[in-house]
Amino acid sequence: MLTPNLHYRDLKDSYLFAGIAGRVRAFQETHPGEKILRLGIGDVSLPLCDAVIRALHRAVDDQAVKETFHGYMPECGAPFLRKAVAAHYLERGVNLDEDEVFVSSGASDELGDILDLFSRDSSALVIEPAYPAYVDANLMAGRTILHLPSGEEDGFLPRPSEASRADILYICSPNNPTGSVYDRERLQKWVDFANANGSVILFDAAYEAFIEDPDLPHSIFELEGARTCAIEICSLSKTAGFTGTRLGYTIIPKTLERCGMNLQAMWVRNRTTKTNGVSYIIQRGGEAVFTPEGQAGIRKNIRIYKNNATILMQALDTLGFRYFGGRNAPYIWMKCPCGMDSWTFFDRLLTEDRIVGTPGAGFGACGEGFFRFSMFGSPEDTKEAAERLLKRYSK
Ligand code: PLP
Repeated sequence: MLTPNLHYRDLKDSYLFAGIAGRVRAFQETHPGEKILRLGIGDVSLPLCDAVIRALHRAVDDQAVKETFHGYMPECGAPFLRKAVAAHYLERGVNLDEDEVFVSSGASDELGDILDLFSRDSSALVIEPAYPAYVDANLMAGRTILHLPSGEEDGFLPRPSEASRADILYICSPNNPTGSVYDRERLQKWVDFANANGSVILFDAAYEAFIEDPDLPHSIFELEGARTCAIEICSLSKTAGFTGTRLGYTIIPKTLERCGMNLQAMWVRNRTTKTNGVSYIIQRGGEAVFTPEGQAGIRKNIRIYKNNATILMQALDTLGFRYFGGRNAPYIWMKCPCGMDSWTFFDRLLTEDRIVGTPGAGFGACGEGFFRFSMFGSPEDTKEAAERLLKRYSK
């Protein structure tokens, strides 16, 4: 009889978003017609910008004409998009070969698939609070996981130590859920640590477009030594509103080797075996993101999300509440008032103020006592939520 992957037994029920949805539904049933302000989900709310929409339409038309029709696309990505991404990195001073850029269907897919490059005996370090997929993808593969808690004292940006020695190191900056961002000095410590130990950093840069402080690194490849120890996984989901359109890219330097094996070449082999490329139409839409019109369009949307953050941060400052993130990230990670635990605060906020957020405990044990607000909602709802918080908690 076939034995399924028994490691699936180690997965805990993903109660976080299901738990939130269930409580909100139950509340709505008993309070019909009440306006609930949703600052919980990390999905975008603004449509794709004009430059992307025009490119998508043009690409659809290409598929209607024999001369411009595209069948299977190159598995590692269309040359036009790999080139556009490489040019974008060059503007930041990061020099990439176009074939170090791999086009993907998004960061989630890639964060799971990339683990094919590593032995199942390898260990993975997850800095918590963390995006839950890091832990689950490794549990499914039966890997040993080290959980490195972070907290207020280190600004949720821990430094490496003997206790953080592992083969695969996850770093997410700007971070979901804490909104914290590694500066060069702190990130360099992890790069040096990975090189010294032969580890590989999986750098999740899904939120890099939200960085506004000019000194903060957007890419790990802005740091010395990263080309021998890091893979960067990026997405157009939050950068350009592609959550439902699906497109991302992954950077694997040709200089990344372990045990005499070249990880970039291994990934080419993996992609050519396990995928048939990403849709031509979607890749043309992605290419448009990197044009001047596309950049202006996505910046306009990001500014709206960042303004949401400013409104909420002003309210939290007025209340004297402690929080992280917001400035260089689309999340605000707030310490629950009056020492409340994060689910108690969730219930209070829902039932008293009709605001939905995400309890920090859902991102790892050290998230207990914290609460995540997402800035991807509408400006009107965010403003109203800020006003409700001010009204409730002003002394
Ligand atoms: N990485 C982080 C940290 C995220 O928060 C998310 C989505 O919320 C993803 C990756 C997945 O992004 P994608 O939509 O590209 O799969």
